[in-house]
Amino acid sequence: MQPFKYRREENSAAAVAAIGQLEHSKFLAGGTNLIDLMKNGVERPAALVDINRLPLAKIEALPDGGVRLGALARNSDTANHPLVRERYPLLAYAILSGASPQLRNLATNGGNLLQRTRCPYFMDTGFAQCNKRDPGSGCGAIEGFNRMHAIFGTSEQCIATHPSDMCVALAALEARIVIMGPQGERIIPIAEFHRLPGDTPQSDTTLRPGELITSIDLPKSPYARHSHYLKIRDRSSYEFALVSVAAALELDGDTITSARLVLGGVAHKPWRLEQAEKILTGNKMERHLFAAAAHTGMEGAKTFRYNRYKVEMATRGIRQALGVAGGVA
Ligand code: SF4
Repeated sequence: MQPFKYRREENSAAAVAAIGQLEHSKFLAGGTNLIDLMKNGVERPAALVDINRLPLAKIEALPDGGVRLGALARNSDTANHPLVRERYPLLAYAILSGASPQLRNLATNGGNLLQRTRCPYFMDTGFAQCNKRDPGSGCGAIEGFNRMHAIFGTSEQCIATHPSDMCVALAALEARIVIMGPQGERIIPIAEFHRLPGDTPQSDTTLRPGELITSIDLPKSPYARHSHYLKIRDRSSYEFALVSVAAALELDGDTITSARLVLGGVAHKPWRLEQAEKILTGNKMERHLFAAAAHTGMEGAKTFRYNRYKVEMATRGIRQALGVAGGVA
């Protein structure tokens, strides 16, 4: 591992100031992804600013019926918090389906948003071609072993997927990411937080240099009673999604009055299926409706040599997740 400077700060303003003063620096929270990447030479920061003592670990109700998740609350504490379990079970399920208990005990909510892709060509510096790790070097995955890779929103520069489960649920719940930076506070809707790769796959998010995530705000949700997170993976624990589905329904009897449907494991960001949501909305829950939504949701998928199976897997996954969410499975 390359040597680096270390600095610990006690409040958000000081941490933002420190990151602005130290060249090539990064914030350190749980470190469950960053330290691994530093050990294998993918990330090479010159300095780390430790933010673990910042007072950002609270989970609290908001006056509008929503909930604020502190950026430094641990994933386990978030998933097991009574407010989250009662109001956002979709989020609790999604978090608990990710990583391992040990990792969830250390990983933070802010860090979960900033996870980097597990594309093997990115993770292993022995591969020369990776535009995300080394811009302009090419993409080893496009003609290589791309079984885990994206089928939506890809570019000629990168076909990586975003690895988080939590973010798929946050996209369905339309979370807002609260940021503190050198210019003050701003809020980014989750749909605009993660980027598609385009010509600059090295940038995963729309965060600006020096900005710190302080909380994730969840609006009041009508989906507590009818939601499901389905994760399909190679083994039942400690594995990333081949495909995942966050399905949430608001029902009036057996009529769907609103729906949220988001896929994970298929794009460089959580992939929301808004056209499929429109098909569901206003109609009675029936299997052929779920099938129509799934068919529409998968339109426009572009596959590569080894990941063609994801279209069928996601189609079936959408139908299953909607059935469980609606109680008609
Ligand atoms: Fe790198 Fe993206 Fe290509 Fe993977 S898919 S090798 S992360 S450029």
